Amino acid sequence: MKTRELIIIGGGPAGYTAALYAARADLEPLVIEGFQWGGQLMITSDVENYPGYADGVMGPEMMADFRRQAERFGAEFITDDVTRVDFSEQPHRVYVGDDEYAARTVIIATGATARFLGIPSEEKHKGRGVSACATCDAAFFRDKDVYVVGGGDSAFEEALFLTKFASRVHLVHRRDEFRASKIMVDRADRNEKLDYVLNAVVDEIVGDAKVEALRLRSTVTDETWEVPADGLFVAIGHDPSTALFVDQLDHDDQGYLVTVPGSTATNIPGVFAAGDVQDHTYRQAITAAGSGCMAALDAERFLAALEGHPGTALTAGR
Ligand code: NAP
Repeated sequence: MKTRELIIIGGGPAGYTAALYAARADLEPLVIEGFQWGGQLMITSDVENYPGYADGVMGPEMMADFRRQAERFGAEFITDDVTRVDFSEQPHRVYVGDDEYAARTVIIATGATARFLGIPSEEKHKGRGVSACATCDAAFFRDKDVYVVGGGDSAFEEALFLTKFASRVHLVHRRDEFRASKIMVDRADRNEKLDYVLNAVVDEIVGDAKVEALRLRSTVTDETWEVPADGLFVAIGHDPSTALFVDQLDHDDQGYLVTVPGSTATNIPGVFAAGDVQDHTYRQAITAAGSGCMAALDAERFLAALEGHPGTALTAGR
């Protein structure tokens, strides 16, 4: 079996940027990009905050551009999901079903996915009134009555953004204290379109072809009641896609991979992590891409330092 210099797991902004830098450094990276490549940007419409796209770009189009740019320099792709990894010895092993791949370095860029409530009616209405991305879908709710679930910064950010479109935004939170920062709460307090439903959860989404109402339940009295609604935005956090790695790599209590500060190195030599899989603070395409670049440079330096390895020129600025 061929031992590669680098395998990149994950095909989002971090993975493709790592692939671009590594391919330009002649590391001939293999990107196992996932069956559904592209990551969270594939469910985003207009991206207006990625530098270089002055007129904005559709999320899927941007990801196709990233991918094509890496491919141009020789990155190789497998459009399938990694099923198992073994980082116990060099070279590290990565499996896709029965197919085994070996590499001296691995970059993990598997991203994160939005958490949903997990109630049966939610699945049926996803994309038809239920969303986890106001940035993507708020414009569909112009002059509508919408609910946001959550009490963290994301929920406030989503709710405030929605007030630009919706006629009324109600933020439902299961407690009476918010986890969100004071500045966000203050901003929401001042917004006349926004109100709170505290000590409550969404029990059921009512409607057939579209969302018509929500059944709310009090977390204090257990009493339930129905409210008319046109949409529901779920903003209760994200889960990093790290199930394959947490038994081998250091992670925090939420499952995010832990990297050495100022670098993308994990606790295992030769294994690096980039993008949302190790970042629950910024979670932007640009920051993910930046850390993908860092991971490629870190992998390159690691390879250059390996005994007997011919070494490679650092690509920074090339
Ligand atoms: P978060 O801080 O973990 O908040 C998640 C919220 O959802 C919490 O209020 C939680 O309630 C609630 N929740 C969780 N599971 C729930 C369920 N099943 N049903 C109902 N409610 C549920 O997540 P986040 O808001 O996504 O923020 C993640 C990180 O990104 C934070 O560090 C945040 O500061 C950062 N962030 C920053 C900005 C910004 O600065 N502009 C914007 C977005 C995010 P409890 O409070 O009761 O646990």
